[in-house]
Amino acid sequence: MAATLRHVIIGAGTAALAAVEAIRVGRPADPITLLSAEPEAPYSPTVLPHLLAGRIDESRIALRPAAFFGTRGCRLLAGTPAVALCADRRVLRLAGGGELEFDRLLVASGSEPIVPALDNPDAVPVHTFTRLADLRVLRAALGGTSRVAVLGAGLIGMELAEAIVHRWPGARITVVEQERQVLPRAFCREDARAVEDLFESQGVGFRLGCRAVALGRRDGAALLTLSDGGCVEADLVVACVGVKPRLGFLAGAGLAVRRGIVVDRRMATSAAGIHAAGDVAEGPGADGTIGCHAVLPTAAGQGRVAGANMAGRAVEHEGWLPANVFSFFGRLLVSAGATEAVGRQTRLGQASGAGRGRLVLDGDRLVGASFAGMPADPGALCWLIRERVPVRAQAELLLSRPLEAARWLCARAQRGTA
Ligand SMILES: Cc1cc2nc3c(=O)[nH]c(=O)nc-3n(C[C@H](O)[C@H](O)[C@H](O)COP(=O)(O)OP(=O)(O)OC[C@H]3O[C@@H](n4cnc5c(N)ncnc54)[C@H](O)[C@@H]3O)c2cc1C
Repeated sequence: MAATLRHVIIGAGTAALAAVEAIRVGRPADPITLLSAEPEAPYSPTVLPHLLAGRIDESRIALRPAAFFGTRGCRLLAGTPAVALCADRRVLRLAGGGELEFDRLLVASGSEPIVPALDNPDAVPVHTFTRLADLRVLRAALGGTSRVAVLGAGLIGMELAEAIVHRWPGARITVVEQERQVLPRAFCREDARAVEDLFESQGVGFRLGCRAVALGRRDGAALLTLSDGGCVEADLVVACVGVKPRLGFLAGAGLAVRRGIVVDRRMATSAAGIHAAGDVAEGPGADGTIGCHAVLPTAAGQGRVAGANMAGRAVEHEGWLPANVFSFFGRLLVSAGATEAVGRQTRLGQASGAGRGRLVLDGDRLVGASFAGMPADPGALCWLIRERVPVRAQAELLLSRPLEAARWLCARAQRGTA
């Protein structure tokens, strides 16, 4: 085996831990040091809505058992953020003044919330909801709050609204969204409308097609002015308008950065020996599109690939593919790939009982599928899309029984009988 390599990983989330496991496959003795900006044991932000709703408690959210770091022979420096990188000297500077030398570095620092540009931004506090520290602030504030304004109806905003309804049923929630529908990148207009109806039946109000443009204060509460001239009063304002890669500490490091850290299919950055994975990385999608794809399965997959390459194995990521699974008030929503047909693609739809399915086809190949109110397997759907499996002849079956049909089509294609 080649000489020992010192691995340093910035971050201790999903991408980071997947990388540790991949490094250990080939290099059992290399020293690995992980840095986390937070004092807590590593967790995934995906648990935050469930914690806020009170469905789970903090004792159950660790991403790995406490013994993980000992048995893997690696060191976790929790509450120790990296503050600067000198890529040429292969040295990382830490908060508090310490330095770490490395032979292989992985940047897996995740994302940070986008703060919307509002006039008079300091009139009232605008909260965010991406880390445990945010959750604790919100939980304390929500106890004595009746009106909540949520800015943004994407994944995080909708999960936040549902969690508040669940835990504080008396709260009056208004969700403000600049697009004309909720979950704009995950579902088509019709499916989104059904989700809006569901939330409205639980007392949640929507202001769609307009943005919050200014903050003010009236009688001790927040007064949000909207782009359509309307306004919303609230005791608590939470901005969920998206996330961006967390890479401020890399200023001047010389890595190629667009929106995120530019990586190739091996998760290699522009600097030798330095990889990036997860929300912070900007890499290829399954269809060749380049972008950041801030979801858990992509972080896990990219982390595994980064770790394998840090350990010297040449492995390529298959490219991210949009896939979403939501359960709002018990109604399941699943989507994979494209939500709308473009160019010569066609869209097929079918409703059965309370469920509705849609397929987007390019010729006889599946490029997208979404299902509302019926069980579906996003993994199997993604596989059919990636592998360009012809499905048109089975479209009706796929629409009426998506769970079984997608798995059966995968199995049939693997046997070579598609
Ligand atoms: C509320 C919420 C709900 C979500 N729900 C879903 C969902 O249902 N499904 C889904 O697929 N995705 C969901 N996501 C997205 C998903 O959580 C992320 O895509 C995924 O966690 C990214 O993993 P990561 O390893 O890149 O970053 P993270 O898991 O966020 O880890 C980042 C790590 O970097 C550390 N760090 C940051 N800066 C520094 C620094 N300077 N120095 C050292 N360490 C640093 C942090 O402390 C942390 O340990 C959700 C996100 C949020 C916020």
